[in-house]
Amino acid sequence: EDLRTAFFTDAGRLDVVDGVSLTLRRGEILGLVGESGSGKTMTGFSITGLIEPPGRIVGGSVKLAGEELVGADRARLRALRGRRIAMVFQDPMMTLNPVLRIETQMTDALLAHASMSRAAARAKVRDALAEVGIAAPDERLRAYPHELSGGMRQRVAIAIALLHEPDVVIADEPTTALDVTIQGQILALVQRLCRERGTGLVWITHDLAVVAGIADRIAVMYAGRIVEEGPVDDVLDRPAHPYTRGLIASVP
Ligand code: ATP
Repeated sequence: EDLRTAFFTDAGRLDVVDGVSLTLRRGEILGLVGESGSGKTMTGFSITGLIEPPGRIVGGSVKLAGEELVGADRARLRALRGRRIAMVFQDPMMTLNPVLRIETQMTDALLAHASMSRAAARAKVRDALAEVGIAAPDERLRAYPHELSGGMRQRVAIAIALLHEPDVVIADEPTTALDVTIQGQILALVQRLCRERGTGLVWITHDLAVVAGIADRIAVMYAGRIVEEGPVDDVLDRPAHPYTRGLIASVP
């Protein structure tokens, strides 16, 4: 059954995701494109189990390697979140702890779920940070999040998302708030890191041009439904839905 979510408020029920069926193959990059309000974030939150009231999944299923996540108990979802499925948000402070130094919070996060010595965890964290461009002896290793630029904060959030070597990363508009040059760097970085590891990536964006260059497949969302889905070239060359044709026409 296709996935459905709704918000239940005093004003009534609002169906936000209205029958979505998506499959992400191992190591694949999927661009999930759609206008603001089309339900992309709720789809991402459904996959990561982050939906909070007044939102709710009202039907369908989300499966990770065959395991049903809808209705799974909170402990199980917590165990999967951040480890098998990680999310990168538009605002990196959704991931970062403002009162801990970067290296410290990452080491703590790693030790919370992996049995290794503090020294080993620190070494792994240093490797992870070096891969996103903060290599020792860079003093930013010991910085607090607010001391970093927006782009650097997002790089750290990406390093955290990949720290537990998840199967899937859901990236929800992680570059939208950054200036254009930095956007391109971050996009290329996430693409490379996921490809190297064989990590599946769902890149959520309202901007078709952003994902056209990195994705294997594109799904276009409109009014709570997937109206188009396929390999990037097929979607770009032969869009079937009027909304997709409009999107393509608007790309410079
Ligand atoms: P955006 O790019 O703006 O984030 P989106 O495609 O990710 O858009 P969603 O964030 O999934 O869309 O939101 C889908 C719909 O859900 C929107 O119409 C929004 O107004 C509505 N919505 C979001 N949060 C709530 C809430 N707490 N209560 C009621 N409706 C909400």
